[in-house]
Amino acid sequence: VNVDVKLGVNKFNVDEENPHIVLKDDIDPAQFDILMKACPAGLYKKDEKGQYLFDYAGCLECGTCRVLCGETILKKWEYPCGTLGIEFRYG
Ligand code: SF4
Repeated sequence: VNVDVKLGVNKFNVDEENPHIVLKDDIDPAQFDILMKACPAGLYKKDEKGQYLFDYAGCLECGTCRVLCGETILKKWEYPCGTLGIEFRYG
């Protein structure tokens, strides 16, 4: 069973109004490249024009981006409120 299948069994209760991770406006390209490789959910991406894309909705709350790049790229990193965020289901 590959990782995508395992991740697919998790459930997300996304807080649409209050993102728990917010990136800085001025993104350091080198730091972003690190997170493109390091985020286990693959949430740090670039489009075909090289624009930065980030979607907090699929976050696994692992903290990797926070540990690796912290305030150099993140304006905010918090756990989602209450019952929001990921609900792990080990499949
Ligand atoms: Fe990706 Fe983990 Fe950061 Fe969430 S906490 S954005 S899953 S590296």
